[in-house]
Amino acid sequence: MAEKVKCLIIGSGPAGYTAAVYASRAKLEPVLYTGAEMGGQLMITTDVENYPGYPDGIMGPQMMEDFRKQAARFGTDIRMGVISKVDFSGPVHKAWADDGTEIHADSIIISTGASAKWLGIESEQTFMNKGVSACAVCDGFFFKGMDVAVVGAGDTAAEEASYLAKLCPKVHLLVRRDEMRASKIMQERILNTENIIIHWNTSTEEIIGKDEVEGVKVVNNKTGEKSEIPVKGFFVAIGHKPNTDLFKDWLDMDDTGYLVTKPDSAKTNIQGVFASGDARDKIYRQAVTAAGTGCMAALDAERYLAEEGIV
Ligand code: NDP
Repeated sequence: MAEKVKCLIIGSGPAGYTAAVYASRAKLEPVLYTGAEMGGQLMITTDVENYPGYPDGIMGPQMMEDFRKQAARFGTDIRMGVISKVDFSGPVHKAWADDGTEIHADSIIISTGASAKWLGIESEQTFMNKGVSACAVCDGFFFKGMDVAVVGAGDTAAEEASYLAKLCPKVHLLVRRDEMRASKIMQERILNTENIIIHWNTSTEEIIGKDEVEGVKVVNNKTGEKSEIPVKGFFVAIGHKPNTDLFKDWLDMDDTGYLVTKPDSAKTNIQGVFASGDARDKIYRQAVTAAGTGCMAALDAERYLAEEGIV
């Protein structure tokens, strides 16, 4: 038999846990499914120094444990599990967890996040958090005064390179083709930044170092020429993928899979289904903005349930 809930939250990053704090305090008795990566992207971050309220910074995993405890304190039913199927065809939204549980929810808050794309080379994993990062705003500060490399050629790579150029003497931008995909204005900005060195037609072969990153081995795709660039930081900026495949039959998305919300709200095209966090945000992607939209989603859900006479 299906379990009936007023509010189902899918995902356990800053957006999901913040939605849970608000929803549980509003007596929506939320059930939260953590997803496979409990805590989300912050679990693979070290120090977080830009989240307000932590004057001395905090480790990403510790921060997510604090978020979890706060959500649990107000009674959120937190379950380690993955929602693997949904059906939004009726007024009651159906969801199935991977253990077979069928849930009928009056409202659903989606906070499934996004995942950084990686190159897929072994050394990337070896040096994860030891010089390899997918977020310059999060980790760039630790490379102040050191040379770094950024791989990618879209707006994210251009933004990350510009950000790092303010902190680092040299930023090597590794572009695999002879042109960039980034918007013209971003391209101009980086072309006009003296300490950004663009390596065209260049692919990464390997990240090298002992305990930490010391350099990167690259190959020129046109000439086959190989070389080494000494860097302390290696930033992968080849795009993010929102974790929204589950909703593709039901919810409006842009052409890259980010959920579309109605202006100034967390509302999706389906009544009672709300979207928060990186699953709906390809621009800011910060823990604090995810927490903000998580809050919006819970407030929207509360209003919706009140209007429908459910709470
Ligand atoms: P994109 O998909 O736009 O770009 C990814 C880039 O990474 C491409 O240039 C691609 O190269 C390169 N790439 C992919 N795989 C590899 C690989 N294995 N090795 C080397 N390079 C690789 O992703 P972004 O995250 O940059 O942007 C996503 C969306 O978000 C875009 O629509 C963008 O405009 C938007 N955005 C907007 C911002 C803003 O307005 N301020 C800021 C950031 C993003 P190739 O070109 O050869 O395929």
